[in-house]
Amino acid sequence: MARRAGAHGLRWASRYARGLVSADEETPEAAEPVPCTVCRGTGTLISNLGGSPSNVACAWCEGTGTFLPDHDAQAAGRAAAEAAPAPGDAPAE
Ligand SMILES: [Zn+2]
Repeated sequence: MARRAGAHGLRWASRYARGLVSADEETPEAAEPVPCTVCRGTGTLISNLGGSPSNVACAWCEGTGTFLPDHDAQAAGRAAAEAAPAPGDAPAE
């Protein structure tokens, strides 16, 4: 009996949650280009690798200046990681 009531409640809850979630998903981040926070939308970073500063294409956005949610920057190379202004983001390898 209690289970039945629970299921009923769950049904309601999930229906509610679904509505909330889909409402949330209808505010897609992908619709608007999000500026890359690593290069601040410039698409380039100053890399001090090797002793002298040089401009490198931002590995996080591939030089587009737009944040790529699915992009794996860690695979793109460590040069950009060296230039990343947020050291907390750097993976401890
Ligand atoms: Zn970038």
